[in-house]
Amino acid sequence: MAGGCTVEVVRGSPATLVASCDGTVYVVDPGHGRKRAKQLAKKLRGSGSVVIVVTHHHSDHHAAIAEGLADALTGAGTSLRVLAPEADAPAVADPRLRVLATFSYPLDPSSPLLPFRAPGVRVDEAYSPPASVGPLEAVPLPGHTLGQAGILAPDGTLYAADALFGERVLERYGAPYHLDPCVALESLGVIEGMLPRLEAVQPSHGPLTPAPEAQGLIDANRGAIQALLNLILEETGREPLDSGEIAARAASRLGAVPEPGMLMLIEATVRGSLACLSRQGLVEARVEAGRLAWRAVRG
Ligand SMILES: [Zn+2]
Repeated sequence: MAGGCTVEVVRGSPATLVASCDGTVYVVDPGHGRKRAKQLAKKLRGSGSVVIVVTHHHSDHHAAIAEGLADALTGAGTSLRVLAPEADAPAVADPRLRVLATFSYPLDPSSPLLPFRAPGVRVDEAYSPPASVGPLEAVPLPGHTLGQAGILAPDGTLYAADALFGERVLERYGAPYHLDPCVALESLGVIEGMLPRLEAVQPSHGPLTPAPEAQGLIDANRGAIQALLNLILEETGREPLDSGEIAARAASRLGAVPEPGMLMLIEATVRGSLACLSRQGLVEARVEAGRLAWRAVRG
């Protein structure tokens, strides 16, 4: 019990944080899939009031709401509210916007190219971090998406969402997805600054990590982002390249599985990296052989 709340983590990828506080249950990122929806509905059975707090617009973090969880709760007479961070709320509600914001291709939300094919989710209220959500604290952790929030529970557990990935995800993807990797680096600094007052950090995809051990994970995430930025500077220092060519080289050098969905994710992260490197004056866009190509600026 902390701050009038009992806090627990339901394991999964993403993990779900559940805080039961004075008659209201706060559910942070319920995850995806009908099985998960059923599991959480069972756990929340008999609750008078449930508040679902979504950290960002990616389908795997909230699809369970529309895949049976909302119907099961409201059908059992539970009052349900769904909250999402202001900048991401439109894409939580509208899967077409979600796909566009993630990949910059207006693909059909049911396209087999997408890792998750999720429906729209009703959002009852947008919150703008930093903000209090009942006894929880929403912390701005953008970069992975425009408006991602981390959620600090009263027991000192920070649900870091996808601002921080577990070691296995870093190994598998090489370059973890971030809309703007430079902003994601700043968010890692925010988590690092919070460590002294935290008990534990929960990456969405990874194990619950005691705060004293989280520094290593922060460093590993920082290293993965920095490795991609360095790789881009190195490759575009040799010759001007377009974002698809850079993604192909990044995938090959980082050992990512070369399938279409994975390359699409990497290319989106490469574009985010190019945007932030150009903001820093480290790369410039030019037209080479008729295509948009990027070249490192020699210092
Ligand atoms: Zn995500």
